[in-house]
Amino acid sequence: MPVGAAAAALAGDGLAALSALRGEELLRRYDRSLLGVFGTPQRVLVRGSGATVWDADGKAYLDLLGGIAVNALGHAHPFLTSVVSSQLATLGHVSNFFASPTQIALAERLLTLANAPEGSHAFFANSGTEANEAAFKLARRNRGTAEAPRTRIIALEHSFHGRTAGALSMTWKPAYREPFEPLPGGVEWIPAGDVEALRAAVDETVQAVIVEPIQGEAGVLPLPEGYLQAVRDVTREAGALMIVDEVQTGIGRTGAWFASAGVIPDAMTLAKGLGGGVPIGAMLTFGPEVSALLSAGQHGTTFGGNPMATAAALATLHVIEHEGLLAHVRETGAWLAEELLTLDEVEGVHGRGLLVGIKVREGLAPLIVQAGLEAGFIVNATGPDTVRLAPPLIVTREQLSTFVQAFPALVASATATLAAQTTPKES
Ligand SMILES: *Cc1c(COP(=O)(O)O)cnc(C)c1O
Repeated sequence: MPVGAAAAALAGDGLAALSALRGEELLRRYDRSLLGVFGTPQRVLVRGSGATVWDADGKAYLDLLGGIAVNALGHAHPFLTSVVSSQLATLGHVSNFFASPTQIALAERLLTLANAPEGSHAFFANSGTEANEAAFKLARRNRGTAEAPRTRIIALEHSFHGRTAGALSMTWKPAYREPFEPLPGGVEWIPAGDVEALRAAVDETVQAVIVEPIQGEAGVLPLPEGYLQAVRDVTREAGALMIVDEVQTGIGRTGAWFASAGVIPDAMTLAKGLGGGVPIGAMLTFGPEVSALLSAGQHGTTFGGNPMATAAALATLHVIEHEGLLAHVRETGAWLAEELLTLDEVEGVHGRGLLVGIKVREGLAPLIVQAGLEAGFIVNATGPDTVRLAPPLIVTREQLSTFVQAFPALVASATATLAAQTTPKES
């Protein structure tokens, strides 16, 4: 069937009627048909190209969030589109009863990029939470002995590892966890970056320590210099696994393939940017002993590592490498941080590469997000005082400078809205 005919058939299945509607009416339909866990979205997006997206009313936005650090190559990247289309037209899905060349190539490529030693392996899933769910089960398999059992998993305060039960049980925010308790137990949180607390917590009863090199959801909070190495040393000494959650920070986001580069963990989880927008997650296990902790039948997934998703990840890695995006991210990120810091409205900039937290006056961040949408910028607030940027890695200085130039006006608008909200109305 020609592409045009396929599109016409789909349109007949209800899409044509929807594409005639304006955003407001589409959002009413959304509320009626989609579960309310995300609230009502701000806009309905219909199309993208590079770092630009368009909404259902034809308004354009500079996408500085990139689907939350996912659209590494921007939208509708021609190489990614072509690789995924041709893979789907060849062999899209096979289940894990069968192997596929793209899956093997991706495993080998990621292990090489991560400097993984001989005997390391990859497990593919479909998302970040699933990658961490696998890591949670891996950690549980580090059981110790009958006389000296290991039962504890150490995570960091303000951590975010996902929303499925195992990953959620390692996530710090009580509001995410408490409605679903009892969750898998044995998880404890220690203050991020505190080496003394780390040493005090980790002994022969610990199965694993899990850390994000930069805590993305918490507000793009980096760990102090040397902390990851301290985690490596302390876990090695205690026989606990070191798990790095690079779901948000990995695959070039910080200007290196991995934000934890230089420290070899026992397991690493990846997802967001890995497939350039096609859902895929991964867990890498380092060395033969760790890799042997999960044996045949102990974990699995129907979709994980399918040819289409692994081809998408290979395409994403290929473009990052061949277009020199790691250097571009380092240079552009450093330049952006400097530009932002010249603004009076900015109280601080943290993060690395193109994972950027802009600190603003308490309460302003969510209102800056609103003002940004009005002005044609997509950004996000990780909390009341932090605006997060995680744009496509291909974003240009010219594009970013339009945002820097607009930022004071966004803050002014947010400040006015905040003042109107907090001034008691005269009766
Ligand atoms: C987003 C994120 C996750 C969860 O990934 P999903 O794909 O949303 O399940 C886990 N860990 C970190 C550090 C993340 O940023």
